[in-house]
Amino acid sequence: MEIQAVLEKMGYNVGEVNGIFGPQTRNAVIQFQRNFGLTPDGVIGPNTYRVLERFLNGYDLYIIRPGDTFYSIAQKYHIRPEAIAIANPDQNPQNLTVGQRIVVPYGMDIVDTNINYTYDVLARDIQGLKALYPFLETGSIGNSVLGRNLYYIRLGTGPNQVFYNGAHHALEWITSPVLMKFAEDFLQAYTDGRTLAGGYDPREIWNRSSIYIVPMVNPDGVDLVLNGLQPENPYYQDLITWNKGSTDFSQDWEANNRGVDLNHNYNAAWQLSKNAEAEYGITGPGPTRYSGPSPVSEPETQAMVAFTQNHNFRLVMAYHSQGEVIYWNFMDMAPPEARTIGENLSQISGYKLDLSTGIASYAGYKDWFIQDYRRPGYTVEVGLGQNPLPISQFDTIYANNLGMLLYAATA
Ligand SMILES: [Zn+2]
Repeated sequence: MEIQAVLEKMGYNVGEVNGIFGPQTRNAVIQFQRNFGLTPDGVIGPNTYRVLERFLNGYDLYIIRPGDTFYSIAQKYHIRPEAIAIANPDQNPQNLTVGQRIVVPYGMDIVDTNINYTYDVLARDIQGLKALYPFLETGSIGNSVLGRNLYYIRLGTGPNQVFYNGAHHALEWITSPVLMKFAEDFLQAYTDGRTLAGGYDPREIWNRSSIYIVPMVNPDGVDLVLNGLQPENPYYQDLITWNKGSTDFSQDWEANNRGVDLNHNYNAAWQLSKNAEAEYGITGPGPTRYSGPSPVSEPETQAMVAFTQNHNFRLVMAYHSQGEVIYWNFMDMAPPEARTIGENLSQISGYKLDLSTGIASYAGYKDWFIQDYRRPGYTVEVGLGQNPLPISQFDTIYANNLGMLLYAATA
C-alpha cells in the first residue's frame, strides 16, 4: 500500500491502492523503472527499492555542486526554493557550501491517508516531517511492551500546553493518521503563512500554544491488527490463547501485547473497571476490556502518566473511533468550563457531546486526567460503523476534526 500510494503521488496509475500487487501496479513499477534507468522487470528488488525509498521518505539528500543555488536545485526538483530553505536552515542561500549534503523535499505530502497506517509508516512519517521542518520537536515518551517508541511531536512553542493522543486502542489506528495529517497541515500552513479551517492562524497558535501529540499510544497492538502476529513475538503463544485460539487479530484486538486494554488501565476508579469485567465475561488478558493486574501496570500507560505529569496540560483530547461522540466528564469532576468548551467542540465537529456509561466510564486516560487535574479532558470518538473503520472514512473524519484540533489549542 505504501508503495502504491507513493507511485500514485508521483503520477503513476497503480489502480486501486489496496496492497495487492496486480497488473496495474506492476505496469506502474515498470514505468517507474524506465524513468529512472532501472531494469524494467516489474519487480521491486533492492535496486528499484533504493530509488523508490527516497520518494517514500519524501525527500532526497543532494550534494551541492559548484554554481548551485536553492533556485537552481528547486528547478531540478520542480519544487519551490522556499521548501529547500526551510529544510536547510544552516545553509546560507547566498553562499552554499559545495560538497555539503542538503535535504531536498520532493514537494509531495509526507503523510498518506489512504493506506494501513502501521508503526513503520508512522516512524517514517515523523522522520520525514522532521527532515522537511527541522525546527519541529520530536521524540519518544517511552517504550511499548515490545520496545517500540511511543513517539511524540510538538507543534508550537507557546505556554498554553495541550495534549492530543491516538490509538490507545489497536483497532482504532485510523486516529493516528488523523493526528499526523493535522501535524503536516499545520506545519505547511505555518511555514506558508496561511490560515486553516476558516481563519485559524497557525503562527499565532504557534506562539500562544504548544500542541503535544502522541499519535500511537499502542504501537504493538496496531502492529498486531495490521501486520498480524509475528513468529518472533515473545508473547506468541500467549497472544493466541488470549485471542481465544485465533491467529487473526485484525478484527477484534484493542489491547497491548500483554492483553491489557490500555484505556482501562489508568488510576481512575480502576477497581470499578476491574469489578465490571466479570459482567463482560473478562477473566484475564484478552482482546478488549481487561484492566490489567493493577492500575498503570503497563509501560504504555506509565509513559503517558509520566509525560502528563511532566507537563502542564491545560486540555487533553484522547482519540478513539466509534460513534461520532465526545465524552467530557468523569464522576462530575470536570470543571464548569469543560462543558462550555465541549459544547463548542461538538458544534465545530458535528459530534454529539455526551457522558460515558458502563465499563467505558472508568480508568480511561481522560478520566484520570480530569480526576487528577480538574481540567478539560475529552475522549473523541471519530467515525461510524464497526471497528476497524475503513481508511476510506478518513477524509470525512478529518474534515470533522480539523477545526476541533485547532480550536482546542486555543480554547
Ligand atoms: Zn477506543
